[in-house]
Amino acid sequence: MEKKKIRVIVWNEFRHERHNEKIKKIYPEGMHSVIAKHLNSQGDIVAGCATLDEPEHGLTQEVLDTTDVIIWWGHGAHREVKDEVVARVHKRVLEGMGIICLHSSHFSKIFKALMGTSCVLNWRDGGKERIWTIEPSHPIAEGIGPYFELPGTEMYGERFDIPSPEKIIFISWYPGGEVFRSGCVWERGHGRVFYFSPGHESFPIYYDQNILKIITNAVRWTAPRIMMKQECQNVPPIEK
Ligand code: ZN
Repeated sequence: MEKKKIRVIVWNEFRHERHNEKIKKIYPEGMHSVIAKHLNSQGDIVAGCATLDEPEHGLTQEVLDTTDVIIWWGHGAHREVKDEVVARVHKRVLEGMGIICLHSSHFSKIFKALMGTSCVLNWRDGGKERIWTIEPSHPIAEGIGPYFELPGTEMYGERFDIPSPEKIIFISWYPGGEVFRSGCVWERGHGRVFYFSPGHESFPIYYDQNILKIITNAVRWTAPRIMMKQECQNVPPIEK
């Protein structure tokens, strides 16, 4: 019998790529399409896309009910994401759906709801980034060397106001001397959460093979092991 594929939705705000010529050149069909195309080439994953300007941001209950992992990329329009959609995604994560929050999604409503902290960080414009693998035995780091570099990136630095991660898998270093917990995991309810910071829209970061490998590994790792309905179950009392 064929193994069930992991069903992924790559969600993107998809505004920069439509409104900024420079970014449109890098990602003519959006960052989500590049990520989804790579995931669909893997054989064990089937990835679709959803974007902010679709009705219900493309995230109806029906879509979420058949999604194992959601990947989230947002930046300038976090506030436009409807609270009811955020609540729907949040509930699904607690039930077991995996979520991967990329780059500026550190400030998305869903990531902040999952973390419960401000999620503020220190940032400045570009330069080089060296990403160190500090948990090489973690499944998300599979096939990644001791470190790799991105020639052009946006600096995200500490302090990052998140609850202490259950594992820090990657730490980034920048020539300005800053460091950042760039790849972290948590569990929330039955769901697994991965935050991964590289991915500023004006650099071709989602074409980088290490970045794509990490996202693919993270899809497999955050995929649900079990899906639980969040409603309370009535358990009969123990017989005396
Ligand atoms: Zn950015």
